[in-house]
Order: sequence, then C-alpha cells, then structure tokens
Amino acid sequence: MNYDKKTIRDIDVSGKKILLRCDFNVPHDKATGVIHDDTRIVSTLPTIRYLLEHNAAVILLSHMGRPHGQWKQEMSLFSARDHLEKLLGISIPLTKDVLGPDTKEKCAALQPGQAVLVENLRFRIEEEKNDPAFAQELASLADIFVFDAFGAAHRAHASTEGVSHYLPSVAGLLVEKELNFMGKALDDPKRPLVAILGGSKVSDKIGVINSLLQKADTILIGGGMSYTFQAARGKQIGASLLDEAHVDYAREMMEKAEKLGVKLLLPQDNIAAKEFSADARPIPVTPDNFPDELMGMDIGPKTIEAFSAAIQGAGTVIWNGPMGVFEFPAFAKGTNAIAEAMARQTEAVTIVGGGDSASAVEQSGMAGKFSHISTGGGAALEFLEGLVLPGIACLADL
Ligand code: AMP
Repeated sequence: MNYDKKTIRDIDVSGKKILLRCDFNVPHDKATGVIHDDTRIVSTLPTIRYLLEHNAAVILLSHMGRPHGQWKQEMSLFSARDHLEKLLGISIPLTKDVLGPDTKEKCAALQPGQAVLVENLRFRIEEEKNDPAFAQELASLADIFVFDAFGAAHRAHASTEGVSHYLPSVAGLLVEKELNFMGKALDDPKRPLVAILGGSKVSDKIGVINSLLQKADTILIGGGMSYTFQAARGKQIGASLLDEAHVDYAREMMEKAEKLGVKLLLPQDNIAAKEFSADARPIPVTPDNFPDELMGMDIGPKTIEAFSAAIQGAGTVIWNGPMGVFEFPAFAKGTNAIAEAMARQTEAVTIVGGGDSASAVEQSGMAGKFSHISTGGGAALEFLEGLVLPGIACLADL
C-alpha cells in the first residue's frame, strides 16, 4: 500500500465544505455519557483546528458502537459533541437525524469557520453496508472528503471509503502521522527493528507474526499467546491459555524465524496464579517448572530484563498487546516494565500499535515519551499485517 497520501496541507480548503470523517468512538459511560478516555477525540483536534483556521466549513462524521442501523440513544454522539465543544471553545450543533432534513438544513447553512456534527452514522444501516446511494448523498453535503479516522481505516463503509468515489479525498493530520510512523517503521525502519507482541490469542495475531517475520530483526512474545509457543517447543505451561488449534502454526513460525535469522524470544520465567482473579497470589514459575494447576498471568523478572535489554539495543520498537493480565495490578508488572523500557529509550523510534497496550501507556502517564501511539486497534493490527486499509487506499496519492 502506498503511504504517501495527499493531506489537507496539499489542497486549498478555504471557503470549502469539508466532510471530515473522525473516530469519536470513545469509551464512555452509557448512562451518564462521561468519557473515560478522550484520546481519539484529542488526536484529531489538529485537523479540525487546521480546517477551521483555514476558513473551511467542517461537517464532522463519526460512528459510535454497534447500533446495527437502529437509533439507540445510548450510542448518541452527544457526549463526544459536548467534549469537543469544550476542547475547541466553539459551539458545535449535533444533527437530530442522519442525512435527514435536519442534517441537510444544518449543513446547508454552515459557514466557513463553523462546524457541525452529524449523529452516529451507524444509526443508518446503509453506513456499514457501504451503500453507494447513501455514500453519494453524504458526499453531496460537501466539496471535499477528509479522512482522519485511523481507527476505522480497516472498514470499507460509506463514510470511510464509499464517499471517496464522489469527492476529492485526502488525509487528515492524524492519518498522516499514523502513516508516517507506522508506514516508515515497517518499510524503512531504523534498525534493529524489535517487535513486541502480546495479548490473549495467537489466532488474532497470525498475520501480524507472519508479516513481522519478514521485517523485524527481533520478535519478543509475551502475554497469553506466548504459552501456545511454549507448548509448541515442548515446554510446560500448566493451566495457562493454550490455543491448541495453533500449536503447529506457532512451531512453523519459530522454524521460519530461525531460517530467516530473526531472533524470536519467549519468556524465560512467568508469574502464575491458582485462579484468574485480581487478588490471586502471584507465584513465580518457569517453562521447565510450571505446576499443572497454575496459570500464567504475567512475564517474570528475568524475562523483563531480557526484553528490556532488547528494547535498549533497538533502533525501532513496535509494541502490540499486553504482556499479562494487566487489568489486575498484581499482574501488570510485565506490561508496565515494557512501557517503561520503551519510555526510557530516547535513541529509538518507539511505537505502540494501538489496542490494550496503547491504553496501558495512556494510563501510565508516560505517553509523551513515545514517538507514536497509534489510535487504531484493529486498524493498527491490519497495518502491521501489511494489509491494504480501504479507508487509506482510497485517498489521493501525492
Ligand atoms: P488482545 O485483545 O488479544 O490484545 O488481548 C488483550 C487481553 O489479553 C487483555 O485483556 C489481557 O488481560 C489478556 N491477557 C494477557 N496475558 C494473558 C494471560 N497470560 N492470560 C490470560 N489473559 C491474558
């Protein structure tokens, strides 16, 4: 996929109406609307500000949750709108329908320097179906389409890909940043490139491991998925997570790594527990001494040391997936240690590829010490897999 896309800086936006696809699908309390993590809203502010300051009229688009074409008030974008108004210090009307008379009226009346937010696009079934008539009607509201919803880039929906067939389409500043970091890290990395993979399931990361084997110099595997790799090399894993269907695949990947000269490191020790609970007692174990009744919950101190050393010697580090059950403080040490080792690394490009590891870093307060924290969960993973993201591919090339 070509990562060199035209952005809002390459075109004249003054006096134009812009359809700006954002990702305001933020975690929030369904009853009160209180937003728990506003990262996705904040990270698109530079694009919104740029457009407003350059005299454009901005029609903001987003989805929220999965209402499957039904109007569900708890998935309204009102809390995102309220938050945006506070952050930008301007009034942003929220439409009372999706592409109905209210949307059309508000968009028609919109003046340069003003913004309006269209209600959750997924209240209309046509959005996820990428219905061409719906996309064309959406496009008829504006002169230019700007895509800044990196978190939704892997979906070909009416507002991410469909509209691009009817309007000149360029990237926003967040998408530009994502492409610069994630694209460059994979295509032309400062070496050695160290990839750290964790999380629960091997099945979710199959494509990622395969693709990174072609690109990385070292791959560190922790988290729930590491036990399937340990099982594949005949080690003990007690009652830990095991993806039986992928044991052979894990073995093949290890063989492939060896053939390609890629260092693939697995945990030398773990922290285990008798039960999966926050107050379970942490028990140190190793792959050669792993009691049957215990399940692995985190990487151990020797592994933290080895993984941190690999990070210290890296030119680029890409991380996706926690090293353990980081939601339980007693088993978050490994995940936090990886975040700290990356934050200490001032010489390397450090990238967190979205999802749970991004939330862990945001919560740790160390986010400012990373080169880039991707806003895409699924999109970041597909990017790491080397797949074409429809929301990006449809944008004009430079
Ligand atoms: P994923 O969605 O695949 O990135 O996985 C994230 C989830 O993996 C988090 O909720 C972690 O609690 C979970 N996880 C990480 N390590 C383990 C483990 N050793 N056992 C069970 N779950 C784990």
